[in-house]
Amino acid sequence: MSTFDVPFRGEVPPQFPDLCVGCEREQPQHTARISVIGARSTFGWAIDTTLLVAGQPVQGTNVTVELQVPCCPQCAPALARHHTLKKIFLYVSGLGAAAVMVALIALGSSRGWPQGLTVTLALLACLACLALPVIWEMRRPPAFTLTPRSDDVVFEFRSEKCAAIFRALNRAATPKTGVESIPRPTAPAR
Ligand SMILES: [Zn+2]
Repeated sequence: MSTFDVPFRGEVPPQFPDLCVGCEREQPQHTARISVIGARSTFGWAIDTTLLVAGQPVQGTNVTVELQVPCCPQCAPALARHHTLKKIFLYVSGLGAAAVMVALIALGSSRGWPQGLTVTLALLACLACLALPVIWEMRRPPAFTLTPRSDDVVFEFRSEKCAAIFRALNRAATPKTGVESIPRPTAPAR
């Protein structure tokens, strides 16, 4: 599966097409609430697009980005379920990464492993844990999600049509590139 990604950086709220992000139905007359956690200090994600974090709860080093996106009642439950699972996976993988690091360092020191080896193993295990939610989402992308980065936010659509209209509606806030897509796998030529 691929997504169609639109980097966004602006001072005004993003405008969404009047289409369901899931099934492209016109005028869905319904929205789904999306909530995504960004680890601001851990990864240096400066979520300075204040429009996106209006009214957000900020706890510790995390920031929660919330948005209402057009989504028909039929598609909304799957989208909500994905983002709930995503939050759970992020917390579990973060806790798992910390636990695995501590366990490996303790094991290394009790067994007298060289310090460099212990640190390398602990870091690799930590990264593997943190990569799991990313791999899961790449394999099963939702109809829509977003990723906060250091100086912008990437809006990720499964629908190419939604992404293209979104970019056209927000041209001033999406100046860098066009719709960036990861090509769909194509059938081999005969
Ligand atoms: Zn729909």
